[in-house]
Amino acid sequence: MRDFQAELQQRRQDGLYRKRRLIDGPQQPRLSADGQPQLAFCSNDYLGLASHPRVRQQLIDAVAEQGVGGGSSHLICGHHQAHHELEQRLARFTGRSAALLFSTGYMANLGVISALAGRGDTIFSDRLNHASIVDGAILSRAKVHRYPHNDLEWLAPRLAQTPGHKLVVTDGVFSMDGDLAPLRELAGLCRTYNALLMVDDAHGIGVLGRHGGGLVDQLGLSEQEVPLLMGTLGKALGTGGAFVAGPELLIDYLVQKARSYIYTTAMPPALASATCASLDLVAREPERREHVLALVRRFRAGATALGYQLLPSATPIQPILVGDNQTALELSARLEARGILVGAIRPPTVPAGEARLRVTLTASHTEADVQRLLDALAEVRP
Ligand SMILES: *Cc1c(COP(=O)(O)O)cnc(C)c1O
Repeated sequence: MRDFQAELQQRRQDGLYRKRRLIDGPQQPRLSADGQPQLAFCSNDYLGLASHPRVRQQLIDAVAEQGVGGGSSHLICGHHQAHHELEQRLARFTGRSAALLFSTGYMANLGVISALAGRGDTIFSDRLNHASIVDGAILSRAKVHRYPHNDLEWLAPRLAQTPGHKLVVTDGVFSMDGDLAPLRELAGLCRTYNALLMVDDAHGIGVLGRHGGGLVDQLGLSEQEVPLLMGTLGKALGTGGAFVAGPELLIDYLVQKARSYIYTTAMPPALASATCASLDLVAREPERREHVLALVRRFRAGATALGYQLLPSATPIQPILVGDNQTALELSARLEARGILVGAIRPPTVPAGEARLRVTLTASHTEADVQRLLDALAEVRP
């Protein structure tokens, strides 16, 4: 039998072993991790909605009315009025014709990519795309090119030379770097070479754009330009699940073909109701977006002044590039000893030699919190 024990031991030696901290209480900057109070800079709850009183109350009320479980898949008898309402709200929110709910973002990417591309087709996927996109592309059995990050000069001639059906897929905001895809230019290329464009904006939805509609909102890109927009509900919207928005035709096709939509139990309808409360807050409280982006500017100025190497990111994802795995782990441990929780991100999540501390800021952080982080970073500076 394969020596699992030896493989785990090797992982420990390489600084790649992962352990889970036990969190107690709601997801918010001040939390208890393994029994210790910490100020956390590692959640994706960018707008501070995961424990917002109105979102909580909506969930409680909806559970009281509708119960808990989804009971069945959408195509049998699990497609509830609450799911339908959320889909309509998400379509309006993103300026698309229709939207389809999935239970998680991982499942959305698996289902959409494997439904829309198949044997004989070609997928072009940014090298820094999320793991769920990588896995969806493998599952599709299409030929896959992982192109150099945001490299349109690499992409254009390959799109021109490739016959048959082509799908280009990219993160909107890249999850480990925080930078943005050049969507307007990608949309132009896809139009020219007749490729279908899919954008996973898990980290942009709720945060970027005048209305919080994400990177397509910020850039003013229509459904014609970006036909497939995927977003998740467990990050800025503070609940859980995911959606794909686009033209009626594609959404209908996905209802027929996306296996991770068809062969799974519908998300609890109450969670869909709670997400509607999140969308209300995104619309009514633009100050949440403004606040988190102001904290981003403050953090960048402070960390740069301390001599830390940041990546070119204007989003709440603010990686500090460290390099080797052990140094990243050490820095993270020294911060934790000072009551500051920041994730150390190592391969295979990022390329080898690019281990980093991934700082994320949220609307629940205060300026004083960011100052505490900067003070701690000054103390542990290598
Ligand atoms: C988090 C994330 C996902 C997965 O979403 P879940 O709802 O957490 O499964 C997909 N794509 C990107 C870019 C993500 O950051």
